[in-house]
Amino acid sequence: MTNLQWRDRADCRSHPSELWFPIGNDTGETGKKICRGCPVREACGREAIRVRETHSIAAGFRCSDPAERQELRIWLGLDSPPRESRTCIQCRKEFTTRNQRRRTCPDCRDQVALAPVTRHVRRLRDEARLTYRAIALRAQVSASSVVKIANGHPDGDWQHVARDVADRLLALPLPDTTPKAKIA
Ligand code: SF4
Ligand SMILES: [Zn+2]
Repeated sequence: MTNLQWRDRADCRSHPSELWFPIGNDTGETGKKICRGCPVREACGREAIRVRETHSIAAGFRCSDPAERQELRIWLGLDSPPRESRTCIQCRKEFTTRNQRRRTCPDCRDQVALAPVTRHVRRLRDEARLTYRAIALRAQVSASSVVKIANGHPDGDWQHVARDVADRLLALPLPDTTPKAKIA
């Protein structure tokens, strides 16, 4: 059963419903603006997703427009924003990000690629048989960072790691598995 009591507090109740059903070229800005200040905006957005709303404006998004339905999902945290190409404002290099406010590339933020560090931490765990805590102590980084790095990021969004954390972890030696050369 769905609890829809939040509707009693909906701001749209005191306005003409046409504002939430724009037609033609009307983008529904008046209704959207009211939604943005509505105290039950999130519940309204989740309900719109649940019932697959495709007509009205809900939570400030026009659900008849697939792009705005997608924006609603992103706003609710149900989807990741698309990865976008940007030019770094410091070095002018191209980089990609899902963070809409990010303006600098990983190098300029002094970050390095995560994947090699993840591989190294997993080898420390699997081949050197070190616990995450032991790795964290030896590298002098937080245990939560080690766990995060070992897991990678589930949605692939966290693809860089601070350079100094990477340097400390990569400096931890792996067991030597290469055959020793004979000294004559
Ligand atoms: S967020 Fe939902 S409940 Fe609130 S005003 Fe907008 S449509 Fe109505
Ligand atoms: Zn840069």
